[in-house]
Amino acid sequence: MLPRKKLDIGWADLASALAMSLRRGGADRASRLEALWSPEGRALATLSVRSGFDLVLRQLALPAGSEVLVSAVTIRDMVAIIEAHGLRAVPVDIDPDTCALRVDRLRQAIGGRTRALLVAHLFGSRTPMDAVAAVADRHGLFLFEDCAQAFAADGYTGHPRSDVTMFSFGPIKTATALGGGVLVFRDRDRCEDARRRQRAYPPQRRGGYARRVLKYGLLKALSWRAPYTVFATLCRWSGTSHDRVIANAVRGFGPGALLVQLRRRPGPALLGLMLRRHRRYGSDDLADRIAAATALAARLPADAIPGRWAQPHCHWLLPLQCDDPDVLVARLQHAGFDATRGATSLHAVPAGRDAAADGAAPMAAQRMMSRMLYLPVESASGAELRELARIVGDFLDRPPPVRAGP
Ligand SMILES: *Cc1c(COP(=O)(O)O)cnc(C)c1O
Repeated sequence: MLPRKKLDIGWADLASALAMSLRRGGADRASRLEALWSPEGRALATLSVRSGFDLVLRQLALPAGSEVLVSAVTIRDMVAIIEAHGLRAVPVDIDPDTCALRVDRLRQAIGGRTRALLVAHLFGSRTPMDAVAAVADRHGLFLFEDCAQAFAADGYTGHPRSDVTMFSFGPIKTATALGGGVLVFRDRDRCEDARRRQRAYPPQRRGGYARRVLKYGLLKALSWRAPYTVFATLCRWSGTSHDRVIANAVRGFGPGALLVQLRRRPGPALLGLMLRRHRRYGSDDLADRIAAATALAARLPADAIPGRWAQPHCHWLLPLQCDDPDVLVARLQHAGFDATRGATSLHAVPAGRDAAADGAAPMAAQRMMSRMLYLPVESASGAELRELARIVGDFLDRPPPVRAGP
């Protein structure tokens, strides 16, 4: 079976991380890593993007009930964090062709309580920020730019108007360090203040990180094709699905109070791995993935691929939208392609009760997410890509009959 997603990390990186988590020292790693991102002292390394986002919201201390506008597609935890601060997340619809935030909808969504805007770049695309930044400027909104899916090793550190730009190196992200985030601030003093606040957090647990490195070593071994097929079969026999097992394994933080788990500072082994990866990672490392996704996308109808027209695009994932996506997933699985509908916690952010009546519900985002699946492309050969394109192309031409019953 062709696995859905490769962990973007090598065995030498894992071995190095394990060694670092068993040794002491490395006190200067945070400052060295941060200097790579911003020699002027405007970068902060965090335990995760979610930790950094929570930290900045604490710093902002917006009045309860304030509204934070968010891209209508983002991960659940970002919304949960906004709500945990007593704020309201208000979704702003996106354009499915480019996955960019719709600026007309953004203007409509701004009200008397709007204080901040969280823009997520989706699936590896990077949406143009100029128009969004101009609106944020005019209305005095604090602008968060979420690059968790868009790291492309191309030196981008955020739009100049973004107040905070956030990069994630969590387990399923590009150039992963099995955790960790980097925040780049517009304002140096705000960054210093965040650094001071983070220093008061308890450190990440060393043993916990070592266990995480071992767990992902195991998952990486499993993602070789033969073991992966065995693993998927075993899961099916034992009455569960490999989809669910993987989704649970890569969730990152366990069950329990999210904010408590987020409020730790990154430990020296995590910082060491982030530093190692940043020194060695280059845009060349993304070339194969981009070429495979581009080749497949070129064989499929453009409107089936959200973000098809986005530029730049490093294709972190290759989403596809169609009627009856569950049927296509089953068909692809049967043919040995590990397509999936889950495996990330991306979702369409629900609008408030009155939004539907206002016509402000993010209809495009909801429709897109309800019809979406992800195609496995990363390690596909040319022949496999053609086969994948053929199966998907056939399916899109001849949708299955509508199923009867509930
Ligand atoms: C992965 C992701 C995050 C969270 O990143 P962590 O570093 O795991 O906290 C936030 N936003 C988006 C859009 C993501 O894809």
